[in-house]
Amino acid sequence: MRTITTDYLIIGGGAVGMAFADTIVAETDAHITIVDRQARPGGHWNDAYGFVALHQPSAFYGVNSLPLGENRKDTHGVNEGLYELASGPEISGYYDKVMRQRLLPTGRVTYLPMSDHRGGGRVVSLMSGDEVQVTVRRKTVDSTHNSPVIPANHTPRFAVAEGVRVVPPGALPRLWLERERPARFVVLGAGKTAMDAAGWLLAMGTPPKAIQWVKPRESWLINRTCTQPGAEFFDAVFGGQLAQMRAFAQGTSPEDIFTRLEAAGMMLRIDPAAAPTMFHYATISQGEVDQLRRITNVVRKGRVQAISAGAIALDDGTEPAVAGALYIDCTASAVEPRAAVPIFQGDMIVPQLVRVPQPCFSAALIAFVEAHYPDDAAKNALCRTVPFPHDLKSYCTTNIINIMNQGAWFGDERLGAWIRSSRLDGFGKIAAGVDRSDAARIAVLQELRQTGPAAVQNLMRLAAA
Ligand SMILES: Cc1cc2nc3c(=O)[nH]c(=O)nc-3n(C[C@H](O)[C@H](O)[C@H](O)COP(=O)(O)OP(=O)(O)OC[C@H]3O[C@@H](n4cnc5c(N)ncnc54)[C@H](O)[C@@H]3O)c2cc1C
Repeated sequence: MRTITTDYLIIGGGAVGMAFADTIVAETDAHITIVDRQARPGGHWNDAYGFVALHQPSAFYGVNSLPLGENRKDTHGVNEGLYELASGPEISGYYDKVMRQRLLPTGRVTYLPMSDHRGGGRVVSLMSGDEVQVTVRRKTVDSTHNSPVIPANHTPRFAVAEGVRVVPPGALPRLWLERERPARFVVLGAGKTAMDAAGWLLAMGTPPKAIQWVKPRESWLINRTCTQPGAEFFDAVFGGQLAQMRAFAQGTSPEDIFTRLEAAGMMLRIDPAAAPTMFHYATISQGEVDQLRRITNVVRKGRVQAISAGAIALDDGTEPAVAGALYIDCTASAVEPRAAVPIFQGDMIVPQLVRVPQPCFSAALIAFVEAHYPDDAAKNALCRTVPFPHDLKSYCTTNIINIMNQGAWFGDERLGAWIRSSRLDGFGKIAAGVDRSDAARIAVLQELRQTGPAAVQNLMRLAAA
């Protein structure tokens, strides 16, 4: 058996493993080994449906040392006027470039693709079956803790009768190869993938009346205008942040917080008549919402249980099925609930979110803290795990820890300086660029800081209620 000695063994070369690796290489002289089952770095982006794209700007995605995209604004389409969103293939290409042009040339990185970590540093090649034993001098980094479930690796939880055609969204762009297109498309699911699939159908000219959308629940969505990296978006970005802080400080219930954020233009929903019960930080433009509202055949009878030739059986009733319909399975939940665990655990690091919803920034910050702070207690105090929300109430807990982390970081001079210089810290650059004589904007930034304690206090009350 071959043996390798390394300082950090990183399990997983997805966005999280790569962001961690990039910052460790930049901040230390350590040797790292990245092991991944896939043939290319980039994780799930390599297996995503062809029309997948980021839903937040490219500007603060990827690794710290290399920008993603060209910081341009879209001039057409549903993202018009907003900064570019990298497509799936662009993201895969980007991570390939990070590996080939940034990490491997340092001579301090060993990359083991198509290789499975089986525990204890034992790595098995998926192609040859050969084993490598990795001896770890410093730490093992399990970057797979929050790895998303995607349509390509998801098994539907509903029964499908013979003859009924259910496909993942990735099958849609190949419909041109078929002799005829289906007369009815049924989108199953209410998350961002379902929105992407429905949006793709519309963008490709499918008549809205040919689309049926089975939505178990409705979601609140972040208005993408409030997530832009350019200084010209100060009012939208920091207006949104301030509206959020005020809503946290004054909201009377989790539902009331979201209603306030909708009134402030920070949150959107597709159907104004439906009360959302879900929030997963999906981010969308008003243009996409306008398009998706063209689909009016929406089924709200809970989750799909079974599909037969004549009927769709759901939790709360049945719906007649159209012969020859194509069902698009968008029911994989990218963000399945996983227990939040401490990030620094002795000889193991388990990167998770320390700022929501930013997995890349979080992983890079965790690597910086690993490189420069003395022990697990000090490191975990700077990197409390932010739990991902799964309903409106858990959004309160998410934000309590989010705000507390932010306070701890900017109370620490070295970490604060690193964040300000990190390209992955999107909004900080806008705040730093504000003209000190611009009293109105300075007042917004000050109120944002001052509202923090009241926000945490009220969120704690709501979370405990
Ligand atoms: C459709 C979609 C759009 C998104 N858009 C955004 C966005 O705009 N902005 C944003 O910040 N986030 C976005 N996200 C969140 C996204 O999940 C993260 O950004 C990120 O890509 C997740 O990376 P990961 O490293 O956690 O997981 P993965 O990409 O799944 O990587 C984990 C890797 O670990 C490997 N692995 C697992 N177990 C082992 C093992 N035992 N041995 C070897 N290898 C192993 C896997 O092969 C995989 O390559 C989006 C997610 C989805 C699904």
